[in-house]
Amino acid sequence: MAKIFYVGIPAHGHTNPTLPVVRELIKRGHEVLYYNAASFRSKVSTTGVDFRAYPEPMPTERQLAEAMHELIDASVMLAEMSEHLTPFLMTEIEREQPDLIIYDSVAMWGYIAARTHHIPYICSITLFVLDGSQQAMGLGTLARFFWHSIPHIPKLLQWKRRMKQQYGNDVVGGITEYGDLNLVFTSKDFHPANNFIDSRFRFVGPSIDAATRDGEFPFEQLNGEKLVYISLGTINHLDLAFYRAAFTAFADYPAQFVLSAGKNTDIGQLGEIPSNFIVKSYVPQLALLQRADAFITHGGMNSVHEGLYYGVPEVVVPHQLEQLLNSKRVAETSAGIVLGNRYPYGRVTAKELREALDTVLNEPRYRQQARRIGDSLKAAGGYLQAAAEIEAFLGDKAQTPENILTPAG
Ligand code: UDP
Repeated sequence: MAKIFYVGIPAHGHTNPTLPVVRELIKRGHEVLYYNAASFRSKVSTTGVDFRAYPEPMPTERQLAEAMHELIDASVMLAEMSEHLTPFLMTEIEREQPDLIIYDSVAMWGYIAARTHHIPYICSITLFVLDGSQQAMGLGTLARFFWHSIPHIPKLLQWKRRMKQQYGNDVVGGITEYGDLNLVFTSKDFHPANNFIDSRFRFVGPSIDAATRDGEFPFEQLNGEKLVYISLGTINHLDLAFYRAAFTAFADYPAQFVLSAGKNTDIGQLGEIPSNFIVKSYVPQLALLQRADAFITHGGMNSVHEGLYYGVPEVVVPHQLEQLLNSKRVAETSAGIVLGNRYPYGRVTAKELREALDTVLNEPRYRQQARRIGDSLKAAGGYLQAAAEIEAFLGDKAQTPENILTPAG
């Protein structure tokens, strides 16, 4: 049985899919040490892992929320985190001597420490694979991204130089580096076409199990009318204008609405809440989606998957680049409608919201397509398939110990 490190980042979207996987690994007899910010301790510990907190200072959820608005700001924050966390993880490896390190695709401290210590490693990808997805993003979007990145390039180059001096040219790369095995938590069908992806990438599907998830909700308050669930996710949820547009759009709409407004949103600042809305800071999303007739979402990878997994048609209002890419797939597969997808993203009127909801609720093809995609996501295997891939990888490494001494190039 193996001793496994799971090296995460303090973001729910990156953590949630890993929870059923680590719980399954433990069930199969492995020991899992899970590294994340202290604020994730109670959520992650329910799986039975040995939780290890990163040393402070770590970004707060609000700082992370603000940085995530632009991919380049998020990259700078992650670069800073990797400088802070690599020496910590090195010491952990020396003490614990793990057999395997699974790192989030943006937790570069996991990648660098694994390579430095010649520990086999697997990359855990909870987004679409962004390398190679440039075409899917579109030229205008890409140009804007590069333009916005220019002022940050010197900072990132200096970071890379310092890290290389410290840990060596061979083990340091960019903000995302891959391994011999890369677990992609979506299905091949749902992923945009991408020439970068090769046999090292395994599409295991979304990893969904309500038993590993938190949140409370007064289900007795649901009145049996059509149910519409609205959420902008856990990071980029500070858009009060969007919430107010939703109130205006739906105050007299014949349905009940549940709005998850996000833990950093002051619900008191939202103004008068229409009587057909239940507003909470955080809800058990999977349980709500199982009852929902439509989902108005920001298009985070997990939310998009979770809605489709339960066959719920979506109105997607992306708030940043990665969500834009996800929303395009929802539109291309006709499982929903995209709004507010022009920079600076997320701008929608009450009228647009109302019309889009009418369409996904009343045209049966949206629900049919959501169900079809949901079936394909389930068929990819989810956390059971991820655990099987991890065990097969461990088995291969055990048979060829020389691999362990040869970090991938
Ligand atoms: N989530 C939840 N309750 C909420 C809001 C979000 O359980 O009230 C979960 C949701 O089910 C998903 C994750 O938080 O698994 C959000 O991830 P996603 O990739 O959709 O968006 P992000 O928060 O990373 O922008």
